[in-house]
Amino acid sequence: MHGGGTWVFPNCVWAPTEKRGGGSWPFWSKILQVREGDTIIHLRGVSPDANFVGYSVAVGDGFITRYRPPVTGTWDHAKHFYRANLSDYTPFHEPINLTDVFSTRKAELEGYFDRNRSKGASKANIFYVRQAGRLQCLNGAYLSEIDNELLAALFKSEGVIAENGLRKSSLVQTGSHIATIQSRVGQRKFSEEVKKAYGYKCCFPGCTVADPRFLIGSHIARWSDNEKLRGHLGNGLCLCLFHDKAFEIGLFTLDNECRVYLNPKNVESGSEIVRELVLHGGQQITRGEIAPLEEALLEHSMRVGVER
Ligand SMILES: [Zn+2]
Repeated sequence: MHGGGTWVFPNCVWAPTEKRGGGSWPFWSKILQVREGDTIIHLRGVSPDANFVGYSVAVGDGFITRYRPPVTGTWDHAKHFYRANLSDYTPFHEPINLTDVFSTRKAELEGYFDRNRSKGASKANIFYVRQAGRLQCLNGAYLSEIDNELLAALFKSEGVIAENGLRKSSLVQTGSHIATIQSRVGQRKFSEEVKKAYGYKCCFPGCTVADPRFLIGSHIARWSDNEKLRGHLGNGLCLCLFHDKAFEIGLFTLDNECRVYLNPKNVESGSEIVRELVLHGGQQITRGEIAPLEEALLEHSMRVGVER
């Protein structure tokens, strides 16, 4: 009931912006780094009863607010709060006990900690520490980043989940939850890298959209259709919401020279949207750092039923 009202788990993550008596704590301000679509994995309870209980999705970016949780408890001193809204909470079939994870994954987690404790000059915010030969949760590590390397160190392989004492019946479901999280984290990273490779601009000829909130780093060949091209930047395009939708539903595709090739089935439709696209038929997209792969372009044109 941390927070009460709409502030309870799993509606959001929140924290005060300052400690009692002043000063900040980096694990709280991490909430500002939450971006819409991020996956949040929830660890609840106090050791030895701390468990990974499930995951949810951020429905907006993290923000600072003067609105207060109805139940501020220990944090009544705070004038402002960090908050990020969540939805689609999915519980793991069985909670995964942190103490078990620490003992069965000790070597992997120690390795991750040693490799990542500092990022350049700054300290990385990892939720656990190595202390006197043991791994333990860092007190107050309310929100920290997780990447695929840490995800693998914590949960990789069904065998490990079995070692953690889960019943056989829940093994497959829990394994598939982890796979879902891994794929979300992977897709998110891919999307960011694609946008960066295109300088955070829509690559459709003549399009001037350059606001990251209106851009999508999308796949040319769908994530689910082509395992081999997953994560390959040559399978990505940075498009605005409008041109991404037009590409996704096949109003246009690209030829091997990366020129806009209109879907003849739609050209005659007379819609204003299509007429706008037609103006750019045959024009080349703005190139990014990595050229789109011919294989991916071919797969897209086949999927949408256009012979270029
Ligand atoms: Zn655009």
